[in-house]
Amino acid sequence: MLNIDLHCHSNISDGVLPPAQLVERAAMRGVEILALTDHDDIAGLAEARQMAEAKSITFINGVEISVSWRGRTLHIIGLDIDPAHAPLVEGLTAIRAGRAQRAENIALELEKVGIPDSLAGAYAHVGERRLIGRTHFARFLVEQGYAKDVKSVFKKYLVKGKPGYAAHEWASLSDAVDWICGSGGQAVIAHPARYDLGKNVLSDLLDEFCALGGSALEVVTSSHTPEQMQHFAHHAKNRNLLASCGSDFHGPGESYFDLGQLPEFPHGCTPVWHHWKNNMAAERINPLIT
Ligand code: AMP
Ligand code: MN
Ligand code: MN
Ligand code: MN
Repeated sequence: MLNIDLHCHSNISDGVLPPAQLVERAAMRGVEILALTDHDDIAGLAEARQMAEAKSITFINGVEISVSWRGRTLHIIGLDIDPAHAPLVEGLTAIRAGRAQRAENIALELEKVGIPDSLAGAYAHVGERRLIGRTHFARFLVEQGYAKDVKSVFKKYLVKGKPGYAAHEWASLSDAVDWICGSGGQAVIAHPARYDLGKNVLSDLLDEFCALGGSALEVVTSSHTPEQMQHFAHHAKNRNLLASCGSDFHGPGESYFDLGQLPEFPHGCTPVWHHWKNNMAAERINPLIT
């Protein structure tokens, strides 16, 4: 069984390690096929690919796009995208442009509960200023002693109904899927259990996602309990969707799964790489179909 990890972050977005170091860590941990999926940015792909080649890891171009859907934020992963596809590049540029304003709004909200200077504090943790996000605020709050670690911050701050939350409008679901598919990639709903959708709303989302040309559900992820992995494997099967897997690694000590440290798919899943024919990963996964 190949070690495949199709979801992780470098410091181009809210990961801790620069792309090359992230790939080195993946190689050390036995990953054989890796996708880098930074939030709303593809600027780390070239550096990551170069290190992947040096380490004989098969590299998949990826991205994790922030989407607003029915008043909620969803994350849609693009796998095997073309980073030169103009609508994708322009779309991501537009999403990133909103992050600076949202960061100011978050800082204002934190100030209301007596936490000053969080904007500068969050920017001190950012690799790329344009990708300022909630994780950078979370790291600032940990540093200031408001919580013991990043996970704990999100129980008390930065989420709907808690201090430091600022609503924001991201890309539409249809644009995100179009950019990904238009660039030759596959669209994957990241960590579907995280959205806490009821049965009917989930069904609507899957209807819409399939109609738009989406390919897969992320079934195996550090955000899911074993029961949730079973649950979404079942949905994938019912909808003829493929199943993806990824650690969602952000940094040593910050993530539930380290790179390449993933449980196997629940029985009956068809992996997202099943139809890969035209990329380097296909040669490694199934030499017979290339
Ligand atoms: P943003 O795209 O700026 O809204 O930030 C979203 C990021 O915040 C996610 O990708 C995670 O890295 C982090 N995050 C959100 N919720 C949690 C949570 N409950 N625990 C840990 N990290 C979280
Ligand atoms: Mn993140
Ligand atoms: Mn995510
Ligand atoms: Mn992620």
